[in-house]
Amino acid sequence: MSKLYGLIGYPVGHSLSPAMHNDAFQRLKIDARYEAFAIEPTHFGESIEQLKQRGIEGFNVTIPYKVDIMEHLDEIDPLAQSIGAVNTVVKKNGRYIGYNTDGEGYATSLLQHLDGGLSAKNILIIGAGGAAKAIFYTLASHSDAPAAFFICNRTVAKAKELIAQLPFQIKAKAISIQEAEQRMGEIDVVINTTSVGMYPHVEQMPINIDLLGSHAIVSDIIYNPLETKLLSTAKQLGIRPHNGVGMFVLQGALAFEKWTGIFPNQEAMEQIVLNNLIEK
Ligand code: NAP
Repeated sequence: MSKLYGLIGYPVGHSLSPAMHNDAFQRLKIDARYEAFAIEPTHFGESIEQLKQRGIEGFNVTIPYKVDIMEHLDEIDPLAQSIGAVNTVVKKNGRYIGYNTDGEGYATSLLQHLDGGLSAKNILIIGAGGAAKAIFYTLASHSDAPAAFFICNRTVAKAKELIAQLPFQIKAKAISIQEAEQRMGEIDVVINTTSVGMYPHVEQMPINIDLLGSHAIVSDIIYNPLETKLLSTAKQLGIRPHNGVGMFVLQGALAFEKWTGIFPNQEAMEQIVLNNLIEK
């Protein structure tokens, strides 16, 4: 019988994950299918139990369940535990284990775009939500960790909390968006992890980057639109842009690898995502 994988979230109707994973299963001739399960919050616990009873082999977790899923798992990987969120669940010897591939997906994508490593770089992360935490903790624990981090957020207290909760010491400072705009000259990589600029509010920018040097990279984890206002502004300033497609594809590819032991074709996955986004 074909193995069952999927995505849980609410809503999940527009997710590109089923197309991406089902294509990878087909290419690799793996007898499996990936379905999107929209789970209403009032039925969360019983729906997870039903999926387990159906023998689901693994699933991705998206908004709003990345934290709620944790109490329904048998084990949580240390990185996911410190991030405080799970986006990938793997069934192993009948036990469900939670991982977080968002940060690793992002870090891999960024490294594919960076000349040289991370180690001499000053990183500015805009935002202090779930994605910021996954990215900050993963980059901070990277073997080639950046020289320093600045974290700015509309609510500065949340940026301070993010740094305080990191389970090890690293050079990191919480600042306001205004201070970050004034200190752009010190930054090598700007990473937007907020939803500011996402469809339909495509005219919005999370920060002013006029003072950023032309050597820098501006990265936006949003992928709808493919080119946010922040990224088009960077291009106008002669600064290299990096969009959120790579993170999305690689978090999925890393989940797929955990389920099957095979790292899928990244380019094919990316093409599926791009085709779907361009059709929209
Ligand atoms: P989240 O936990 O809700 O955090 C949202 C962050 O955005 C917070 O820092 C929040 O600031 C800030 N924010 C929201 N509206 C704002 C506004 N109008 N002005 C200034 N700041 C604002 O969300 P998340 O899960 O981290 O996701 C954030 C974004 O990342 C979403 O657009 C999501 O689609 C994207 N994402 C992409 C990928 C990918 O694979 N490419 C993966 C995960 C997430 P406050 O703390 O002040 O509220």
